Amino acid sequence: MRFDYDVIVVGAGHAGCEAAAAAAKIGASVLLITTDMNRVAQLSCNPAVGGIAKGQIVREIDALGGQTGIVADLTAIQFRMLNRSKGPAVWSPRAQVDRTKYIDTWRQILDSIPNLEMYQDTVSELIIDGADNGNPRVRGVRTVMNIEFFAKTVVLTNGTFLNGKMHFGEHKAEGGRIAEPASYGLSEQLAGLGFRVGRMKTGTPARIDGRTIDMALVETQSGDDRVIEKRVEKSADAPCVCLKKDVVIERDPHKFSYLPEVERTLVPRDCYIVHTNPEAHSLLRENLSRSPMYNGDIQSIGPRYCPSIETKIVTFADKDSHQLFLEPEGETTEEFYINGFSSSMPPEVQYEALRMIPALENLHFYRPGYAIEYDFFDPTQLRATLETRPVDSLFFAGQINGTTGYEEAAGQGLVAGVNAAHKVLGREPLVLSRDEAYIGVLIDDLITKGVDEPYRMFTSRAEYRILLRQDDADVRLTPIGYRLGLASQRRYGLMVRKTQLRDELIDWCSRRLVKGTPEINGALQKLGTAPLSASVKVIDLLKRPQINFRILAGIFPPLRKRIDAIDDARKEEIVESAEILIKYEGYIRREREVADKMRRLENVHIPDGFDFNSINSLSTEARQKLSAHRPETIGQASRISGVSPADVSVLLLLLGR
Ligand SMILES: Cc1cc2nc3c(=O)[nH]c(=O)nc-3n(C[C@H](O)[C@H](O)[C@H](O)COP(=O)(O)OP(=O)(O)OC[C@H]3O[C@@H](n4cnc5c(N)ncnc54)[C@H](O)[C@@H]3O)c2cc1C
Repeated sequence: MRFDYDVIVVGAGHAGCEAAAAAAKIGASVLLITTDMNRVAQLSCNPAVGGIAKGQIVREIDALGGQTGIVADLTAIQFRMLNRSKGPAVWSPRAQVDRTKYIDTWRQILDSIPNLEMYQDTVSELIIDGADNGNPRVRGVRTVMNIEFFAKTVVLTNGTFLNGKMHFGEHKAEGGRIAEPASYGLSEQLAGLGFRVGRMKTGTPARIDGRTIDMALVETQSGDDRVIEKRVEKSADAPCVCLKKDVVIERDPHKFSYLPEVERTLVPRDCYIVHTNPEAHSLLRENLSRSPMYNGDIQSIGPRYCPSIETKIVTFADKDSHQLFLEPEGETTEEFYINGFSSSMPPEVQYEALRMIPALENLHFYRPGYAIEYDFFDPTQLRATLETRPVDSLFFAGQINGTTGYEEAAGQGLVAGVNAAHKVLGREPLVLSRDEAYIGVLIDDLITKGVDEPYRMFTSRAEYRILLRQDDADVRLTPIGYRLGLASQRRYGLMVRKTQLRDELIDWCSRRLVKGTPEINGALQKLGTAPLSASVKVIDLLKRPQINFRILAGIFPPLRKRIDAIDDARKEEIVESAEILIKYEGYIRREREVADKMRRLENVHIPDGFDFNSINSLSTEARQKLSAHRPETIGQASRISGVSPADVSVLLLLLGR
């Protein structure tokens, strides 16, 4: 048994698992301590990964050599590319996953990493040196079993567990998640060390027995994979045994992981849509005073974009119906999650309101929804590496920083894990910029703006979203992951080959001419676009909104032949990325130019301990905000609210040279 490590990660949620895996993969010895080793990467709320802007984060994690994308693909039971009707800048992959297989797969990955060890216990205290002389530095952790482990750096990823309190109507229970104990001691100790502690709230809906849903009364929502035939015959005496399983599936080519060998293999399942109605709303309204959200029991702020059902009926009082999605929790389970009906109402009110929906009249509850309040720490006390300013060598990642969501947590976890290891190994820190990754946007927002509600990622938070597409996260980030030692040489080689094949295709399109033959002109007119009076380059035709590779290959055989000649299983991915670059070339170039200009500000560093208060030419507000936030670059300073362009010019004059 070992008690001394390079890095200790506390908590095996989405942040902790990525942090531990990343730190260990780049060469640090790592101990991952968590309260329950059978619930690593537990999906506390809905069994889904990705979604708008979150899907891009998962692809970024994968491109860097992280694990969340691989686990999501291997456990996906429904895959959809959201926003397909919009421009590819905002296409976002999302998967419904099998909850228990998700845990198992993560556990297999953690177990396979050589210098990563796990220990099941709850950390109650940090071992800190130097607090007396004003230079606190973390040295290890102490657990509730009073065991001490030492490390050069510690990453805290406690999620919703710090002083967690759950609300089921009037009934309250201590806990970090249903049936799991909360974590005590750390918040109080950290507050004593100068950390600003806040409180936030989140909630989850009921889980139900799918056999009690009247399937004749629901609307079906299928994924992008097409199930052509699905016939499963189970043994009557041993129902978990399949006597015969005929499943024919036409898979959509998209997925999270860039590794070709990572495939979605689970049998797809449908989700179902039902709607609330005026009767259910009346019942909920009559019982509002029993909701801790409305009777003052819950004071903290919840995620505005995931409102509870009681918040929906109050905020949108004129609406007499809300859409609910019934989402299966796994490949074979009958357990369903009711997306859209998060609630902290008393269980009997939730139950009766749901039974007023015709398809759920005979409903059986597996468990009711509930709300949870928990502690978080002001993320403006973090550096861009996610190391805390008040305590040296201590890193925070995930919900503890005021974010919400598995993907946001996992992205931070990877960065914190790399930086905790790098600090020990004496390597350069990893800081992703806003034009490189959504993960960069996320961390920069946290440390420069702070949070006043649970922070979730949206495409609108990124000013360079055309540069941060889901299709090219590998091109953006795999070189970085490879330099870090996270992405393997093979992964890097795959990215290089994809880029080469893509560029060769674009080059062919920019040289090859298309003649306006009667057949081609007839086809173009049918598509509602002008016929050709002279020969044009393939690339120029592809820039027309009515045309894409698939359509043009259908009417111009040399293009079909050129595509067929691409000698790589990722042909569709290569063609799609070429098409996006061709169609959005102008936008991408312009955004790149703006990003490069801003980079100059990002590269001007502000020395540690710089005395903003002594600069009289800064506005009073800027002096106060800059002293409180302590930005590390002029770029970060420029994004702090209250710091004006005039203040930025003053800083540039002082430090820019
Ligand atoms: C009821 C509920 C509803 C939610 N609803 C939503 C939602 O609608 N939308 C959304 O985006 N997100 C939601 N979330 C949040 C989502 O689950 C988190 O954002 C995500 O799981 C955060 O990941 P994390 O790694 O930071 O923490 P978690 O996934 O919470 O993992 C923390 C881990 O740390 C362990 N741990 C905690 N303290 C200690 C300790 N002292 N010692 C050892 N181990 C410890 C825990 O056992 C756990 O394994 C919800 C969470 C809950 C609980």
